[in-house]
Amino acid sequence: MAKKYLIETYGCQMNIHDSERMAGLLEQAGYESTADDMDADVIVINTCSVREKAEEKLFTRLGEIQHRGIKSGSRPVVAVTGCVAQQEGSRILQRSSAVDVVIGTQNIKRLPMLVDDAVQHHSTTSRRGAVLELDPLEDVSFPLGIAKRHDPHKAFVTIIEGCNEFCAFCVVPYTRGKERMRGAAEIVGDAENAVADGAKEIQLLGQIVNHYKAPDDPSCDFAALLERLDAIEGLQRIRFASPHPRHVTPRMIDSMRRLPKVCRHLHLPVQSGSTSTLRAMRRRHTRAEYLELVARLREAMPDIALSTDIIVGFPGETPADFEETLSLAEAVRYHSMFSFKYSPRPNTLALKRMFDDVSEEEKTRRIVELQALQKRIQGELFAASIGRVEPVLIDSRSRRREWELSGRTSGNTVVNLSGDPVWIGQVLPVRITEANPNSLRGEAVTAFMKAEI
Ligand code: SF4
Repeated sequence: MAKKYLIETYGCQMNIHDSERMAGLLEQAGYESTADDMDADVIVINTCSVREKAEEKLFTRLGEIQHRGIKSGSRPVVAVTGCVAQQEGSRILQRSSAVDVVIGTQNIKRLPMLVDDAVQHHSTTSRRGAVLELDPLEDVSFPLGIAKRHDPHKAFVTIIEGCNEFCAFCVVPYTRGKERMRGAAEIVGDAENAVADGAKEIQLLGQIVNHYKAPDDPSCDFAALLERLDAIEGLQRIRFASPHPRHVTPRMIDSMRRLPKVCRHLHLPVQSGSTSTLRAMRRRHTRAEYLELVARLREAMPDIALSTDIIVGFPGETPADFEETLSLAEAVRYHSMFSFKYSPRPNTLALKRMFDDVSEEEKTRRIVELQALQKRIQGELFAASIGRVEPVLIDSRSRRREWELSGRTSGNTVVNLSGDPVWIGQVLPVRITEANPNSLRGEAVTAFMKAEI
């Protein structure tokens, strides 16, 4: 009988896609998926360390798995992967006897082999040996068609791994390693494969997608890659995350403007509205340069929706610096924002050289004020879209109501509507009728569709 596996995923889209890849690799090796951890022979915990307390969450979960083993007399093989695995390495094995395999972010291709080995030498009551695999690999190629996508209509396609920017607050260059690009031919092949398998939208992934330069074709930069992907027959939408503001080129803006499949949405992390805080963060752009970039994007694409990431309470951030963040958010008017209170992360410059001098109370006050501002702006933008007709990729069915469907505009806003489940996977014109705090409501506009409801 086939052994069963369960993957638990924390963190970003990169981690979600790594889990899709690991699921595909395990299934190719003969494992079957299960959603029940009591039924799993192998549990993979794919971790994230971007925010604080990630390690504690991991050890809490490992404690639960171990407790379960003690109670039932049988324990699964446990593999820990992702950024906490890379960062903590052997400390995980020392702290928890529930773990059999620790695999770094650059070693997931070896997962089936290491897990197989652990399964063979596994005792149901105790760990006989443990494996640690953290050595960085240069090779970022990945076999086509292996990843097991969690969404039939959308596919992630990794184009870059790692990052060389070393922003002062960020753990990623230490956990994901130095920047490595995937070949353009492989990326296009991956996208074509996903489209042939039913995907309507691809989302390009990388720490700084717009720094892309194809290792197999010197003429192919990020703008040219968008061009090649746009030519794929049957593909309807292209998204990407995340670009760095300082690597947005006129060529990239021009490609976004011209290419019909590239969505009118840009996630453009700013982190702070204050030039002095940006300098301390080592972001290598100023407030004025960012605002000038936003103006150029809006000039080229007046309907573009922007979203961002902001950290409040970075070391040295004064009340005046924070006011500049508020005024930047007011000036840009983001469609959505991910905001966080600063917390020191392992290995980073901010941890080693800066004093975390903004009190927790003040960080909370600042984030509450920023989020209230964003809520007002988002509400105004959503209300202004009432009456417009937007192309919406219908991607899922509501669990709560039989005829309720959900999709996203080109600008990445969620739209709920009544409709026939056969519409799932199609891009349809939808008239926006109502604005809610985090989503829109609409109705499909063609007579045919109304008659079908
Ligand atoms: S650009 Fe900065 S924030 Fe983004 S992954 Fe690289 S170091 Fe981290």
